[in-house]
Amino acid sequence: MIRSVATDSQPRNTFSTDVVIIGGGIAGLWLLNRLRQQGFDAIVLEKSALGSGQTIASQGIIHGGLKYALSGVLSPASSAIAAMPEHWRRCLEGQGDVDLRGCRILAPHYFMWSSGGYRSRLKTFLGSKALRGRIDALSASKYPPFFHNSDISGALYQLSDFVVDTPSLIELLAAPHRDRIFKIDADTLKASMTDSGQIKSLSVQSLTGAVQITAQRYVLCAGEGNGALLEMLGISDPSMQTRPLHMVTVRTAHPEPVYVHCIGDDFGMTPRLTVTSHPDPDHEGRWVWYVGGELAESGVRRSSEEQQAEGRRQLGEAFPWVDFGSAQWNSFLVSRAEPRLPNLQRPDTAYVNSQQNLLVTWPTKLALTPNLSDSVCAELARQQIKPQAQDFDESMSTLAACFEFPGIAKPRWDALFS
Ligand SMILES: Cc1cc2nc3c(=O)[nH]c(=O)nc-3n(C[C@H](O)[C@H](O)[C@H](O)COP(=O)(O)OP(=O)(O)OC[C@H]3O[C@@H](n4cnc5c(N)ncnc54)[C@H](O)[C@@H]3O)c2cc1C
Repeated sequence: MIRSVATDSQPRNTFSTDVVIIGGGIAGLWLLNRLRQQGFDAIVLEKSALGSGQTIASQGIIHGGLKYALSGVLSPASSAIAAMPEHWRRCLEGQGDVDLRGCRILAPHYFMWSSGGYRSRLKTFLGSKALRGRIDALSASKYPPFFHNSDISGALYQLSDFVVDTPSLIELLAAPHRDRIFKIDADTLKASMTDSGQIKSLSVQSLTGAVQITAQRYVLCAGEGNGALLEMLGISDPSMQTRPLHMVTVRTAHPEPVYVHCIGDDFGMTPRLTVTSHPDPDHEGRWVWYVGGELAESGVRRSSEEQQAEGRRQLGEAFPWVDFGSAQWNSFLVSRAEPRLPNLQRPDTAYVNSQQNLLVTWPTKLALTPNLSDSVCAELARQQIKPQAQDFDESMSTLAACFEFPGIAKPRWDALFS
């Protein structure tokens, strides 16, 4: 439990807890759930709305590492991600380490379509061998409704991957712990350090004045915000890299949602188009298509108008049976945040770095969040950090009076189309 350690010589709003998590995206909220189950007193400090960095902007695909499979090889590192869809399914059934029963699933399966060209068929074939039984080639009679009557060439595969509705996921993870998730003014967040570089305490302005918080461990789960936090703490290793994406959104009247990787006909390992469909906030039963993949990676060099035009061209070419006549197009830039690794490598697993009483984390993928929490819990156990259980309900309600609950972020297209 949070405990007030106010004494005559200290400010009244001084608190101590087991673990302070900074950042309330998927990483911070999943970890909060895991730590609370283990009896730790833990809180989340969030500067904006929950999930407002990458999580709500993600496509929500819980995937098992298709990109590794496309090269025909599943390395030991990539087997961490190969195990993730099954791990999440157990959670969704209420049998896993976090209870995700009630989370909205947008698509129980994700699909991969190789358009028929030689190289794309080869990549898909190699992928299917490497995935060993976790990918099924479909006969036309088993195609999902979007592809009915489409007369597509090439092969359509059903993957073990699936798609979650990220706002519903964030809401579910936050719900049991609303009284421990606090909206802070990040500009006022300061750390006091010992001579040896340990964090002594954090201080932050609240609705009722300055609040000081001490903890056994501090965990950075702030996504792209980790960069500024590391700078504030004077830490240069690890450092962060960001990968910008120019995502395209299409508000369409087409009745069927679509969830598919369109595998391109080049030598790249990124699908040409990665399409997911999300509920249209203004039209019940309609969809906003959300498009990433190579289009979004190469699109960072295009203006918004150019990117929308390129999206129209590529989607029109991929799905000629769809009438885009009344569709509304939009696009926006958003970055993935990851640790900077030697030789500009991309991490294959969740990343956890521990130094003194600080842990710096990036899941690197939504799908890898359970892997991140496992690593943090293992690290706390290795360091023999244990819950210091006491009863401090009164201090908890005092803290709740200092900060508001941050609320849940809305998808970016809510604002784009309104
Ligand atoms: C366009 C896009 C599509 C993606 N699609 C997928 C996908 O389909 N499948 C998949 O597995 N992965 C996907 N990803 C990756 C995935 O979204 C991220 O790896 C994951 O969401 C990161 O979660 P996080 O909690 O670490 O960070 P975030 O979701 O970015 O959350 C960080 C939180 O910290 C807060 N914060 C920042 N600074 C501070 C501070 N100083 N103090 C307090 N709070 C702070 C932010 O407001 C935010 O709420 C995608 C990423 C992008 C950008």
